[in-house]
Amino acid sequence: GSVIGILGGGQLGRMLSVAAARLGYKAHVFEPGAAPAGDVAARVTRAGYDDEAALRAFADSVDVITYEFENIPTAALDVLEAIRPIRPGRTALAVSQDRLIEKAFLRNLGLKTAPYAAVASGREMQAALDAVGAPSILKTRRMGYDGKGQVRISEPDDAMDAWVAMDDAESILEGFVDFSLEVSVIAARGLSGEVVCFDLGENVHRSGILATTTVPAKLPPRLAVDAALMAGKILNALDYVGVMGVELFVTPGQLIVNEIAPRVHNSGHWTQNGCAVDQFEQHIRAVAGWPLGDGKRHSDVEMENLIGNDIDRVPEIAREPHAAIHLYGKAEARPGRKMGHVNRVKPVTR
Ligand code: ATP
Ligand code: MG
Ligand code: MG
Repeated sequence: GSVIGILGGGQLGRMLSVAAARLGYKAHVFEPGAAPAGDVAARVTRAGYDDEAALRAFADSVDVITYEFENIPTAALDVLEAIRPIRPGRTALAVSQDRLIEKAFLRNLGLKTAPYAAVASGREMQAALDAVGAPSILKTRRMGYDGKGQVRISEPDDAMDAWVAMDDAESILEGFVDFSLEVSVIAARGLSGEVVCFDLGENVHRSGILATTTVPAKLPPRLAVDAALMAGKILNALDYVGVMGVELFVTPGQLIVNEIAPRVHNSGHWTQNGCAVDQFEQHIRAVAGWPLGDGKRHSDVEMENLIGNDIDRVPEIAREPHAAIHLYGKAEARPGRKMGHVNRVKPVTR
C-alpha cells in the first residue's frame, strides 16, 4: 500500500506523517478537533468521529489505519475497521481506553500494578478506600491524560471530596506507589510477531506532565531486562502490531506497571536523535508490514518537553551545540500545552 491513515493530527500524528513520508508513503490524517500539528501530512480531513461519510471516505483513501491517541469512539472504529485494517488492533484499544480493564489485563499476565479498586458511587469510594487506603490517587477510568482527571488523596478524610470532584465519572482508586524512579520502555512488535525494545528512558514529571526523559536510565541492568520481558509479554498477549509505550515505577527489587499507551509515546521522543531508527519510523514500519528496525541507542540523550512559554527559550536553545529542536507548529502557547521538545545529544564514545 502507499497511503498510511492516521487518526489524530496532534504532534504525534505530525511526527508519524513525517516518518511515513521518509519511507515513501503519503499520510492522510483524520483530525476530529482543532489540532493543527498534522498539517505536514499529504492530506488532512477535518471531521468529527460521528461523521460516518467522512470516516468512510478516509478509510477508502488509505491502505492501513493507525492512530496517535487511544480514545477513539468505538462506533467510529467499527466503521473504519469494516473497510481497512486498524493497527494496533481493537483489543489494544479496548484495554487501554479504560484504566480498570487495563489493570485487570496486566494482573492477568502476572505483572505487578498498584493496588486498585473501582469507584462509581460514594459508597464504592468508601469501600475502595478501605481496600486500598491512603495515600492514593483517584483517576477517571477513561479519557485522562497529562495528569488530567486525577485527584490525590493524602489522607482518608480527603476521599469524599475527591469523589465529588470526579463529577460522577466512573473512576479507579489506585494506591500511591512509593517509587524511586519512573521509567518507560518503548517497544515495537511487527506483523510477523518480532519484538524490539528501545533502551529504558528515565522520566521526570512536573504537575502530572512529562518534563524530561533521559537515556540511559540509572537502573540495574537486571531490571532493564525485566522491563523488556514485561513489554514483550504485553505485546504478545494483545497480538500487537506497532509501537507501544509502557510506563513503569521502579521500587526496591521490582517494576510496577503504571499504564500502557498503544501508540508512539512522548517518553520515546529521544529515539529521534538517539537511534538510527526512531519510534515513529518503527511504528510506520510495523503497521506497513516491514521488518522492524534496530532499536540500538547510539547516543545518550536528554529529551526536554517545551511546554507553554518554554517555547520562548527556543532562540537560546538554538545556540546550544548538540541540541536537536522539534517544534509542533502550534500557533498559541497555552499553559500546559506541549509546543515542542528538544533532544540534547551526547554521542556515546566506544
Ligand atoms: P499520561 O497518559 O500523559 O502519561 P495520565 O494522565 O494517564 O498521563 P498517569 O500516568 O496515570 O497519568 O499519572 C501521571 C503521573 O502521576 C505518573 O507518571 C506518576 O508520576 C504519577 N502517578 C500516577 N499514578 C500513580 C500511583 N499509583 N502512584 C504514584 N504516582 C502515580
Ligand atoms: Mg495515560
Ligand atoms: Mg502516564
